[in-house]
Amino acid sequence: FFGYFWIKPKVTYKIYIMKQLKLSLLFLLCVLVAVPVSAKRKTKVIAHRGYWKTEGSAQNSIRSLERANEIKVYGSEFDVHLTADNVPVVFHDSKIQGKPIQTTPYAELKDLKLPNGETLPTLEQYLDRAKKLKKTKLIFELKSHATPQRDREAAKIAVDMVNGKKLTKRTEYIAFSLEAAKELHRLSPKTPVYYLNGDLSPKQLKELGFAGLDYNYKVMQKHPEWFAEAKDLKLKTNVWTVDDPQVMKEMIENGVDFLTTDYPEEAQKAVHLYR
Ligand code: MG
Repeated sequence: FFGYFWIKPKVTYKIYIMKQLKLSLLFLLCVLVAVPVSAKRKTKVIAHRGYWKTEGSAQNSIRSLERANEIKVYGSEFDVHLTADNVPVVFHDSKIQGKPIQTTPYAELKDLKLPNGETLPTLEQYLDRAKKLKKTKLIFELKSHATPQRDREAAKIAVDMVNGKKLTKRTEYIAFSLEAAKELHRLSPKTPVYYLNGDLSPKQLKELGFAGLDYNYKVMQKHPEWFAEAKDLKLKTNVWTVDDPQVMKEMIENGVDFLTTDYPEEAQKAVHLYR
């Protein structure tokens, strides 16, 4: 008789404890899942040609890389061409002060100045400086060269130099040339490679083994379904060059992974506002 009354409450108590434990575990699980998901969704900012719209800086200058590092953006983008004699230099346009970079020997370019007074940086000088700046990822755009053969040579020189400087893990490659992008991926299979040209679907990029797309935002406005398609395929999305605050908001709300902009500080604020 007493036994019956003693056992029953014990059993009920046990069930109660188990229920509470299950609820706590469920809650913990929700937190563990939700935190990384929300953290992952946060758009990261990339300074386009470095942070150059700031005092003393210029596009693709070493100063622009230092400034990008100072404001703690995710990455600093820069452009690389090979000179006629295979010296990789950091510059955007195909010509510097009227001289076509890819068909001019380095000796004829080496003293040319950027608008901020810096000398045209070689890739080697640029990477040496980057090595001392620990934070910013190097978003390395390999410019298109005259022939597929030249694209492959440029890719080889780029990868060898990045690996030689032990900067492989801090580098991500981007290219308009499909030939160059494929070769970069072949030579450095663990380094993310993003394709810039806007003409391939996420499915096609996945098949090529690329990390994702890095497209003009207008391409993504035309194909908004590519955001979800990329995500389903575990590809990352990046858009350029997003300088308009309205477009920044739109892209962040679409869950873009990276936003490449000439206004990185404004973009950092926008990420906090709209994510
Ligand atoms: Mg570029």
